[in-house]
Amino acid sequence: MTPLRIGIMGGSFDPIHLGHLVAASEVAHRFDLDEVIFSPTGEAYHKPADDRAPAEARYLMTVVATAADPRFRVTRVDIDRSGPTYTVDTLRDLRAEAERERSGRQIEWFFITGADALAEILQWRDAAEIFEHTHLIGVTRPGHELADPGLPHAQVSLLEVPALSISSTDVRARVRSGAPIRYLVPSGVAHLIAKHRLYGARSEYEPHGV
Ligand code: ATP
Ligand code: MG
Repeated sequence: MTPLRIGIMGGSFDPIHLGHLVAASEVAHRFDLDEVIFSPTGEAYHKPADDRAPAEARYLMTVVATAADPRFRVTRVDIDRSGPTYTVDTLRDLRAEAERERSGRQIEWFFITGADALAEILQWRDAAEIFEHTHLIGVTRPGHELADPGLPHAQVSLLEVPALSISSTDVRARVRSGAPIRYLVPSGVAHLIAKHRLYGARSEYEPHGV
């Protein structure tokens, strides 16, 4: 049996937006992945700042945003682990889960990251262990230069994806100021933001603009 090819995309997804989804979809297509697992980070502090959404809300938005794509799923491993999220723990937990649930099936792991996150990767905790088990895929992101960070022994691929100049930071700022987020996030995500008044959304906030 050929090995399963599984991609992982970590992020705070605060909120998830079309830039994340396009990147994951393009990598899945080009690298012939069977699955992409989105892993929202755990709660950084006991109570997130007012302009941030709690872990459960970020998880729910990620589930809603990925529901229609049969290749996408969302894991709770980082949300259910206490303390700050380190990618090395995400990978360990997902490998352990796969060993339990897909006994015997070989898996090739891919970790998907935007150009900005890739540039910081050498500073990640236990970076060497991450690359030992995972093929790294860096994708283009407007405003950031995509380059191989020069990791010894690491398998790194660089991929150009359709450019979407969207960030969660900008989406949060738009919600706070009452600006539309239509076409930047999936409509289900926009509805959740309005319904739960995330990111300082006022009761009359119309995420699709008027
Ligand atoms: P924030 O502004 O809060 O940092 P963000 O938009 O950068 O949010 P993250 O959750 O920090 O989103 O990013 C998760 C992963 O998705 C990172 O690897 C990041 O580089 C990548 N990513 C985010 N937005 C894009 C985009 N528009 N195009 C390509 N990759 C992206
Ligand atoms: Mg970011």
